[in-house]
Formats: sequence, C-alpha cells, structure tokens
Amino acid sequence: MAVGEFDLIRRHFTRPVRHTALGVGDDAALIDPTPGMQMVVATDMLVAGTHFFAEADPRSVGHKALAVNLSDLAAMGATPRQALLGIALPSADEAWVAAFAEGFAAVAQRFAVDWVGGDTTRGPLNVCVTVIGEVPRGEALLRSGAQVGDAVWVSGVPGLAALALAELQGRCQLPAALRADAHARLHSPEPRVALGLALRGVASACIDVSDGLLSDLGHILDASACGAVLDAARLPWPAPATDGVSDALIRQCLLSGGDDYELLFTAPQSRHADVAALAAATSTPLWCIGEIVAGSGIALLDEGQLSRLEPRGYDHFA
Ligand code: ADP
Ligand code: MG
Repeated sequence: MAVGEFDLIRRHFTRPVRHTALGVGDDAALIDPTPGMQMVVATDMLVAGTHFFAEADPRSVGHKALAVNLSDLAAMGATPRQALLGIALPSADEAWVAAFAEGFAAVAQRFAVDWVGGDTTRGPLNVCVTVIGEVPRGEALLRSGAQVGDAVWVSGVPGLAALALAELQGRCQLPAALRADAHARLHSPEPRVALGLALRGVASACIDVSDGLLSDLGHILDASACGAVLDAARLPWPAPATDGVSDALIRQCLLSGGDDYELLFTAPQSRHADVAALAAATSTPLWCIGEIVAGSGIALLDEGQLSRLEPRGYDHFA
C-alpha cells in the first residue's frame, strides 16, 4: 500500500520532545527561550550525489545530516536544543525513510536535541536541516577573535574522512588498522559538541573543519585580519604512509580534505594548560599546530624553511 506524506510524517518524523513547548503537529513549533541566552541558528543542506551517494546507507545519511549541523553549533560553543528537517524524496520508499529517520533520531537523542518540525515533499533526494542552539549572551565562539601570538589548535585526526573518500574513489587502499575509523568519520561523523562547550571562555576563535583545514583556517584568518604559521612537525598525520597510500595523498587529505567536522580554534598561549586540561576532560585529542602572526595567509614551517600554503578546500562553485 502506498504511503502518503502525512503517514511518513506521523510514523517516522514525529518524536516526543523534552524541552520544547510544542513539537511536530501544528503549523509551527513553539520554543521557550532560556532567559540570558542567545539563540544560535544554523542550516546545512545535503544533496544526493554531492554530499552523499544516493545509494548510501539511509541510516548514515540521517546521522550525517544532523551531525554536520550540530558541528556548526559546536563551533559556536552552543548547546544544541532543536532541529528541523526539510526533505525532498523521489518516492515514498518507507524502508528508506524509516532507516533515515532512525539515524537522525539517534543523533538527536544522544545530543538531547528535540526534533520539532520540518517539511516533506517529493523531488530529487535532498535533505536540509536547521538546528537551534543556545549560548550565554556574548559568549559565542566567533571566527573573528584570533589575536597575534595565539596558538592554533585542531581536534582529532583531520584528513581521515578524505582518506576514506579517496579509497571509495579508488585512489588508495587504506591499511586495515585505519579503514574502519576513516570510513566511520566519513559516513557518521561525531560532532565535537562537548569540546565546543568547553572552549567557551578559553578559545579566541573557532570554526569546524568541513571544507579542509587550510580553507577553514583561512576563514578564521580573514575574519580576524591576521596570518598563521603552521609547524609541519606538529601536524597530526592521519596515517602512516604505506604501500597503498602515498605521502602526497596523506598530506593533501590532512591539509585540504573536508568532511571531518573537527574543531579548529585559536587560544592565547597563556591558556595552553587550560586547553590541555579540557582535552583530557572531554576525551578529545587536541593538537597545537601553529601560531597566529601579523599579516595574512598561511605559511608552513618545515625543517627550518618557511613556505606559503594555498588554502585549497572544497568550493561548490570553483
Ligand atoms: P504545512 O502544510 O503547514 O507546512 P505540513 O503538513 O508540511 O504542514 O507539516 C505538518 C507538521 O509536520 C508540521 O508540524 C511540520 O513541522 C511537521 N513536519 C513535516 N515534515 C517534517 C519532517 N520532515 N520532519 C519533522 N517534522 C515534519
Ligand atoms: Mg509543510
């Protein structure tokens, strides 16, 4: 039997809410803002064929759709609160929708996000998520706060998702010890929400790495009107070079690979010990990879030599 739009909404997109006055079912949701907090709102679209393969596991598409949005809230230092899902489906494939909704709802549950509404329509497969979070007034982590002398930090292992993608495209063969981690990073990234919250009052600027480390660092530098020097010896190399993976590819994935959803941030040198402590407190590997300098652009310090790096990340229109 064919299922209609309203069946899909009722069976798969309607979930109990925990901290929202009114969720799915009326013309709009109702949210009581917490006094003293600013709302933080972000939206990210995932287009089949561009952001995920149309034949990808629907559960991981649901996971990723919400996770990448929560990553934007994490980069602002915000506590996630609500999410809305706009989805276009080529047909009412209920098994696909059920698995997608499960992946989405599992992430929502884990990060205490209420799924409060959305829109469901027929069209080329496309998923657009809006998230709402909150942050104490004036405490959001912006891209514009980096100061000359600040340290540059990155979380996790940037480049892993790009290595998994390279493997799917037949450009390398990952060592077995790395393959599961890399593919998990690509298909079900873990937004660094706890880290983002812990960085409030410590980081001077923050961004999530969605387009590539250099490209996203470039956004901090542009917004903060400064430059950066990265130290090659301190970059977290995502993989040892092996027969199946070249040094050049690893370096390219580390510096320019997107889709990792790690946090890249700056902090005053005087807060070095605090950053190290919150790495332990949030069980997040953090790497101090360089320093903010006067000027513009990114340079790499490698065996005593400074060379300029071009921020080349993913650009949908370039
Ligand atoms: P309207 O015609 O007023 O836009 P809809 O029929 O589109 O109403 O939606 C009815 C209810 O279902 C609304 O509360 C809407 O937020 C919710 N809804 C629709 N699609 C989704 C979705 N994909 N995820 C969550 N809620 C949805
Ligand atoms: Mg509607």
